[in-house]
Formats: sequence, C-alpha cells, structure tokens
Amino acid sequence: MLCLVSTRVLSPTLSNSARISMKVLAFPDSRHNATRRMHFLSYIRVAGCFCALLLPVPQEVSSTDEVTSTYSVGNSRVAVSVEAGALRVSTQDLMQWVRWASDSVAVYYGRFPVPVVHLRIIPASGNGVRGGRTFGASDGGSIRIHVGGNTTMADLQSDWMLTHEMVHLAFPSVVDKHHWIEEGISTYVEPIARVRAGHMDAHEMWFELVRDLHQGLPEPGDEGLDNTHTWGRTYWGGALFCFLADVEIHKQTNNRKGLDDALRGILNSGGDIRRDEELADVLRIGDQATGVSVLLPLYEKMKDEPYNVDLPAMWKELGIERAGDTARFVDSAPLAKTRDAITYGEAPAPMTAPGSAAKP
Ligand SMILES: [Zn+2]
Repeated sequence: MLCLVSTRVLSPTLSNSARISMKVLAFPDSRHNATRRMHFLSYIRVAGCFCALLLPVPQEVSSTDEVTSTYSVGNSRVAVSVEAGALRVSTQDLMQWVRWASDSVAVYYGRFPVPVVHLRIIPASGNGVRGGRTFGASDGGSIRIHVGGNTTMADLQSDWMLTHEMVHLAFPSVVDKHHWIEEGISTYVEPIARVRAGHMDAHEMWFELVRDLHQGLPEPGDEGLDNTHTWGRTYWGGALFCFLADVEIHKQTNNRKGLDDALRGILNSGGDIRRDEELADVLRIGDQATGVSVLLPLYEKMKDEPYNVDLPAMWKELGIERAGDTARFVDSAPLAKTRDAITYGEAPAPMTAPGSAAKP
C-alpha cells in the first residue's frame, strides 16, 4: 500500500488560520473505516522511521550546499532553493520536477496562479516526496516540501504532492470550517492538471478517482462538509463536491464549461491564496464565470447535512469501468463526452513525461 502525506499551513502572520492537510492515495480495504485509517497512518509513520534507521545510505547520495535557481512560468517567477543535504537525485532532476508541477498548474488555470512562489526543497530521510506546506506571502506564496534522500527520478515523475501544493496558491483563504474546499480542490484538480499537461495518463487518473472518491461520502452521523472535519470528508468530501460540480456544470452547459472555468474565474477576480474571502462570495464568482448556478446551490445542499451520491451509477453514466489497476472508457455511455471534457478541457494533450511509458 502507498501512503503519502502532505501538510499545509497558512502563515499565522499572514492569515489568522493554520491548517494541516493530509492525503492518502490508497486505502483499498479501509472503506468507511476511520479507525483503520488512523492505524494505517501510524504504521506507516513508524515504518518510515525504521526505514530511515535501517537502510544503508546509497553511494550515489551526495551532500551539497544550498542551491538556488529561478525560472519563469509565463509572467510568474518560481524561485527554488534546495537546502544542503544528502539527495540521490541531482539538482537538475529537482528542477525538472518543479517545472512539471508548475506547468501542470499553469495549464489548468491558464496561467501560474501567483506572481512569485518561493519554493524551498528540504532533504529528508527515506524516499519519495515526504510532505509539503503552502503559505500565502505578500508577493504570492511560498512552499516548503521535503524530499527523501533515497528519492529517485521515478519517484519525482510520479509525484502528486508538489502539484497539490501549487494548486493551493490558486484559491482564496477561507475560515477553518470551509477547509474542505481548499483541500478538495487541490485533491481533485491535481491529477487533472497533470493529465492536461501530459504528465499523467488519463486512465490512471480516472482509476484513482474511482478507487478513492468513495472515501468522501458521508458516514453515519455526518453533519455536512462545514461541520464534519474528518480526514475523509475534508480531502475526499471536498473532492466529491468538486467532482459533482464539474459534472453538473458540463451538463448544464452542454460541455462548453466546467469547473476549470469557475476556478479560473475565481483566480482572475483576484482570489488567490493571498486573499481572505467568504466562501459563498467565492462560489458566486465561480458561478458567474460559467454562467450557470451550480457551485452555490450545491454548497447549500452539502454544507450542513449528509448528501449521499450513487457513485457507481455516476461512473457508469460517464463510461468509466475499472479494469485491474487501470480504467477502461466506454464511449457509448451517456456522459462519455462529459468525461472527456472534464479530463482534457479544450483538447487532449500528448503524453510527454511523468506517468508515460517512455521516460525522458
Ligand atoms: Zn493540501
């Protein structure tokens, strides 16, 4: 099983709220079982510590002084610093990883979300990307992300976490009870952004959504997204809101508009991480951008009561079938065109890098 944890905290000096976020990709046998989730997380954390203690340090690992680099994404600037520490991947590999993530976010939103992002890469123990935090800043934002010393280029190619953190830059800060919308957007948009930039396979993206989205469904005793602050309802409940909104916007506009248009409208109204906003106001701007009233009415339904969804019926309508560890598309399904519009937006992008069979 794979467990990856990401944390997000808005700087208390810039916002009155502090938030921590986690996303776990795979819980194949833990449906509706929060206790097992917690045990699983504890197990992974303990196991990670053991790994760090027991694994020999590979010869290739080198300890370097801090390296800084800046590059442009459209009119924005990504300023990267790599703290001194032992890493198996080269600085060049890290820069490639940063470019994949920033390109993915820029493709989805039509531009990079903020003028400047200060990205600090911190070497850590173990392997894989180990956790990130995103802060608002006066000129844009800053992200701190930990990379395990044994991380390989293949790990960076399949990483979702840096894209997830960068998506956080593209939405206003809301009060804590709405934290689900911030994590839900990052959880839902990240793989679609990577697909659109050609960095993830669309079948893999849908397979993962079908596998994981049920974790956002309400459990007994649920009091809606604004009042039920469990891990499942925060990350996948938020993603469920986004998915339902995306499908409904496409339905009401005959696939001419989607959630991407709503989120771009919010961002282009000035609603990035630097701004504190009322959620209802933000959703209203999103609805104005698509020309259909979807986000605000859906929020009214989901905010303070459980809102059950028949996900298997929706997968069938969209023409998505699980096939082993991937998904199969059924193009004769009633909403097959909606599925493609959600996936690709304007036009399909060719696969170019991470997630493709041919690695650069
Ligand atoms: Zn997050």
